[in-house]
Amino acid sequence: MDLYSGHINRLIDELAALPGIGAKSAQRLAFHMINMPREKVERLAKTMVDARENVRYCNECYTLTDQELCPVCSSSKRDHSIIMVVENTRDLAAYEKTGKYTGVYHVLHGAISPMLGIGPNDIRLKELMTRLEGEVTEVIVATNSSLEGETTAMYIGKLIKPTGIRVTRIASGVPVGGDLEYIDEVTLLRALEGRTEL
Ligand code: ZN
Repeated sequence: MDLYSGHINRLIDELAALPGIGAKSAQRLAFHMINMPREKVERLAKTMVDARENVRYCNECYTLTDQELCPVCSSSKRDHSIIMVVENTRDLAAYEKTGKYTGVYHVLHGAISPMLGIGPNDIRLKELMTRLEGEVTEVIVATNSSLEGETTAMYIGKLIKPTGIRVTRIASGVPVGGDLEYIDEVTLLRALEGRTEL
């Protein structure tokens, strides 16, 4: 016997398929939506479709943005000779929130993970190497301190060293396995200031 209508069940299933949303949360959200004014539901649906259709990768750093170049890459106030490599856009946002980093970024969209079958060609590494043909003086590797993050950092270090460009790793004041986005700004800045040569 179906406890709810087929429509509600479908909505619950769709919501439960999202990351971090369990069966209970999906139910709660579904019933909340059913009770929302129609205009609000329409606005929510439209916002999701608009975001999906209009968000793109920055031509330079590959973060998610609405423009060809993201605000950081298009800013003349940023030091374009220093590139901080992060795993995802959320990590970039975490460093941006500190307001103290003046260089630019490179977003890998993942990390090397032999266990999950994610190799160097599955993340934006080639694009990073292409950027190094410009005037770059330092690459700061700020991948997470997880096994995947460390593996990626080592790989990048080996890749860049022969070019003669300085390559550094943020200090491991960052808790092991910790996602950068959950770490407070003071810790992030300390990790940046305490970076060491790779
Ligand atoms: Zn950019």
